[in-house]
Amino acid sequence: MILLGPFYTTLGWRGSRFELSNTAENVVIKGVNRRAAILPTRLFDLCHVVIWRESMSPVPRAEVSEVLPALQQEIARLAGLPEIRHAFAWLRLQEAQFAAWQLEMARIAAPPFGERARGEWLAQKFIDLGLEDVHCDDVGNVFGISPGRGKDYVAISAHIDTVFPAGTPLNIRQQGARLYGPGVSDNGAGVTALLAVAGVLGATRIRHAQPFLFIGNVGEEGEGDLRGMRHIFSIPRWKEAIRYNLVLDGAGSDTIVAEALGSRRFEVIVRGPGGHSWSDFGAPNPIVVLARAIQSFAQTPVPASPKTTFNIGAIRGGTSVNSIPESASMRVDIRSTSMAEMERLEHALRQSLDTAIEEETRETEGRLASSRKPSGLSSEIVVIGNRPAGELDPNARILQVIRAVDSHLGNAAQIQRASTDANIPLSLGREAIAIGGGGAGGGAHTLQEWFDCSGRELGLKRILLAALALAGVGA
Ligand SMILES: [Zn+2]
Repeated sequence: MILLGPFYTTLGWRGSRFELSNTAENVVIKGVNRRAAILPTRLFDLCHVVIWRESMSPVPRAEVSEVLPALQQEIARLAGLPEIRHAFAWLRLQEAQFAAWQLEMARIAAPPFGERARGEWLAQKFIDLGLEDVHCDDVGNVFGISPGRGKDYVAISAHIDTVFPAGTPLNIRQQGARLYGPGVSDNGAGVTALLAVAGVLGATRIRHAQPFLFIGNVGEEGEGDLRGMRHIFSIPRWKEAIRYNLVLDGAGSDTIVAEALGSRRFEVIVRGPGGHSWSDFGAPNPIVVLARAIQSFAQTPVPASPKTTFNIGAIRGGTSVNSIPESASMRVDIRSTSMAEMERLEHALRQSLDTAIEEETRETEGRLASSRKPSGLSSEIVVIGNRPAGELDPNARILQVIRAVDSHLGNAAQIQRASTDANIPLSLGREAIAIGGGGAGGGAHTLQEWFDCSGRELGLKRILLAALALAGVGA
């Protein structure tokens, strides 16, 4: 996500990114999730423009209720407490330390399924910062507790994995307020914010009513498929006790992910006997089966709301132009904020494949009537990704709290849907949001990734106030 200041009138974006241009009358932002936003130039001069990451989309405002006055007062009370004012000052003074942690962590490779070294580093930091019961679980998630009087946890989590495969040259470096290198922002920013909050609680001894559970979790990115969070919410000790989950992911302070975009991904494989294109002509052809299945599946209607999509993203098969292929496969991606819609589409995919196999078998039998050989076709659908969908109740306390905090800090934030670690608790009906770790960042998932530390303080104050409001302080 990128926040642009008022001076930018023309910007060219490359690749999958967006384009912004300032015409005489209007500022036109292209590519903002197909809804081109048009702002009058004068308004543009007065405000900041937010460009969303492609994977995120804003949720219409009407769905969100107003900030509650009582909560607003509570946030103001918290922010005025001497220990919290002290905490804010501490956060301001520690920026050099935060940047140092962030660089140190980014230098430890953490490819999918290879997060161990980074997890050990984080566990040591948790111990150094005074968290209790610091430990790692079976899958590599790291835990630390800041105790309170109550039993329900406020979890604050950040994923420690990156998208970069083992062996990626890291070249992590700092130039002024900017940090560069793979993973420095996603999720260097989130993990640093996690450490900053743990650090400030230890340094200022703020007494909070409910305990905080600090989590550095594995497996958020790509084929990790949210395995870290999935594991945590399958363990009774945590599943029952985590009341709220603040997920810290990436840079920025201007978003609240409150809707979990779900996805299901499949590898569809069709196998047949294969053969020579001339001498075995008439034998069933797996590529033809896939083509039939795609033709039928692609006609499945999808609703605009809840927004639901599907894609055939890759297709493979065959060996040569004069061979009947022995196998063919395709990769299919289905997305929605509705579990029911994802299930309906998965059913349509399975149905299309079954029908395609039946048709091709019938026709093969017709073509080869004399030989009486069975067609020998088989198919398999392998699930290669499964991220559950979910939505936060517009009246959920966690959403009310973050909005009251934003209002108190004068911070404009947009509610969004995206696929994050929050998908797991949200799909279980739990209260969770994903927010940024402050500062600004860009180039996520590329070797050119960067993070700008300027303004990190706002993001950290935002996280701390929200966490303390959820846990309860004093009174
Ligand atoms: Zn991330």
